[in-house]
Amino acid sequence: MTPFEQQMSRLNPTQLQAVTLPSQSALVLAGAGSGKTSVLTTRMAWLISTGQVTPQSILAVTFTNKAAKEMMTRLSSLLPINTRGMWVGTFHGLCNRFLRAHYRDANLPQAFQILDTADQLSSIKRLLKAMNIDTEKFQPKQVQYFINGAKEEGLRPADCDTGDFFQRKMVEIYVAYEAQCQREGVVDFPELLLRAYEVLSKNDALRAHYQARFAHILIDEFQDTNNLQYAWIKLLAGQNTVLMAVGDDDQSIYAFRGARVENMRLFEAEFAKNNLIKLEQNYRSFGHILDAANELISQNTNRLGKDLWTDKGHGEPVRIYEAASDFSEAQFVIEEIKAQINEGQMRRDIAVLYRANAQSRVIEHGLFNAGIPYRVYGGLRFFERAEVKHALSYLRLLDNPHDDTAFIRVVNFPARGIGARTLELLQDAARLHNCSLWSAVPFATGSGAAKLMGFTRMIDALRFDTQHLPLPELVDHVIAHSTLIAHYKNEKEGQDRIENLNELVNAAAAFTQIEGHASDATALQSDTDNTIITPLAGFLSHAALEAGDNQAQAGQDAVQLMTVHAAKGLEFKTVFILGLEEGLFPHENSLNEQGGVEEERRLMYVAITRAQDRLYMTLAQQRMLHGQTRYGIKSRFLDELPEASLKWLTPRASVYTAWDNTASEVATPSFGSYKKDENNTMGFRVGQAVHHAKFGDGVVVKLEGSGEDTRAYVNFGGSYGIKCLALNVAKLEVK
Ligand code: ATP
Ligand code: MG
Repeated sequence: MTPFEQQMSRLNPTQLQAVTLPSQSALVLAGAGSGKTSVLTTRMAWLISTGQVTPQSILAVTFTNKAAKEMMTRLSSLLPINTRGMWVGTFHGLCNRFLRAHYRDANLPQAFQILDTADQLSSIKRLLKAMNIDTEKFQPKQVQYFINGAKEEGLRPADCDTGDFFQRKMVEIYVAYEAQCQREGVVDFPELLLRAYEVLSKNDALRAHYQARFAHILIDEFQDTNNLQYAWIKLLAGQNTVLMAVGDDDQSIYAFRGARVENMRLFEAEFAKNNLIKLEQNYRSFGHILDAANELISQNTNRLGKDLWTDKGHGEPVRIYEAASDFSEAQFVIEEIKAQINEGQMRRDIAVLYRANAQSRVIEHGLFNAGIPYRVYGGLRFFERAEVKHALSYLRLLDNPHDDTAFIRVVNFPARGIGARTLELLQDAARLHNCSLWSAVPFATGSGAAKLMGFTRMIDALRFDTQHLPLPELVDHVIAHSTLIAHYKNEKEGQDRIENLNELVNAAAAFTQIEGHASDATALQSDTDNTIITPLAGFLSHAALEAGDNQAQAGQDAVQLMTVHAAKGLEFKTVFILGLEEGLFPHENSLNEQGGVEEERRLMYVAITRAQDRLYMTLAQQRMLHGQTRYGIKSRFLDELPEASLKWLTPRASVYTAWDNTASEVATPSFGSYKKDENNTMGFRVGQAVHHAKFGDGVVVKLEGSGEDTRAYVNFGGSYGIKCLALNVAKLEVK
């Protein structure tokens, strides 16, 4: 049997039906691991190998480069064909290819360049400067968000609403930005899609050509398409084009980027009228894992509805581990990983998934120390992230102002009006006097000289103000006063960056603890080379080393670290999901948004269904995150899993009862500061029996903050569950 015949023979009847569907469009709506992606790939192979179509008349589209590559690999393992000329790729990749072929129609130079997100931002900054626009009022990031948002909705400046002054100005900038890009021969990411869409819609001959060419269009992860993507697909589909979209409404996790699950219903109505195919057998996971996923997602409302079962048997129960802290959570995960590697498990079959990027640091640190190669997907390793490097550059200048690399990196970041010309002059002066940039500042001339002085004064002030602070507070102070936080507050995806910056404070605290450094800034004697180093210098070299090359080489067998978002569509033998705590997973930002918790639940469903053989979920009673200690309240999602499929490795804390929805107004745990005074809690203590006029009798579970700011988590049992009460407001009586 050829690999293709083998693959065909293992398909179940419904899969086979989907793969061999005659010329009719269809929507495959099916749960995780039911073979949607397998069906798409096998269908392509079937269409080609039965001679119905040539490889060139197939278009297949998916969401990430990793998934597109995977599809190509699967296809070429089934059929000995050259997949290179095939139109298989991401939306952006395919649109790029289209525009390359039709650059004249698209009114682009043949060698047009693509601006990535960072390039686009600098291009916008340049423009705003040239237009003399106040970047306080019209922040570059905001402008970028506006322009990209408009393009993703298919709107050119003329189509935009010009209601108020602000809006009019934005549109004016949009016009100028388009002119600048056109002049420079560049296109940004959303432009790739929009331009391709426009060329097709305006050019009848071209559209007719492609509609005739693509006999089949296949779309994976359809639940995450946005309006423009769907419109583009509709343009490409001719009278005789057969479409197959596969997706899972329960895995729709990009609503925040404009993805619309409704496209599935639309697609069914517009194309797949009588062909809704549901796959119900899951081939990926053992029963306990699947039961957990099914039970969890059944709590969501408004589902399109489908069942999922397996005949693989129960397998091992889902293991739950409650750690005392994030540090011991990481210890546990690393010990388990070691044990599994010893049993012969490949490292690449083990994945560690987390909700927020900032969570990876502690785990990275543990893997690094244990000498286990790992790879972080869909993001940089902690110390290599731009915002962390920026913060470290400020710290480096405190330690050594003559560090030119650090100087260049942050002298104008956040922007303080020091332009390229000023820096050129400064570099000339430094060369002339054979000194560092820092030392050359007094020689600076021109309009930027005063601004450069301002910068060095700021660094000097930071150094002076922090000289007696313990390392974590020093780091905290520098991050706050370098205006990095303020800068990122204005960014669209700045929240993540702020979390990472705060995480740097935790890294400093952990470093201080581990190194046994005294917690003040007194100089320490290094026992290796007799030189005197400060905790700051020690920390900086620690950061530089960890940013080094322990990251696994390409192709090397490595444990996989990624956010849940990045894990979509993938599968692993062993999966760890970290941080099962209220406010973290579900994420606190989701709690006040309509449908927020349901989107988080879908995300958890995606996470659980990545696991084939073994699934672990962990939580920490106490975690340093966002620069603060937070006390974990068990995630509501743990209570939504079937008891029979779980195995608690730690005693299940009986005091935590199920979260009920009435408690959602207090569901966001608030945080204490790491400086907090544990003792002054207005006379309350954990374990104390209390009474509240509305909620009745309860017991104090956790205390946070101190003095006037003390907050108590009180478990009232029954339908009230755990409530968080500010003690200076709530009338809480001691019983
Ligand atoms: P997701 O929703 O996570 O993207 P999916 O529906 O795309 O999942 P696949 O990745 O295609 O699912 O398949 C899941 C696993 O099941 C793969 O390892 C695949 O090889 C296997 N599989 C699919 N169909 C069958 C089958 N009929 N017999 C055996 N294994 C199968
Ligand atoms: Mg898939």
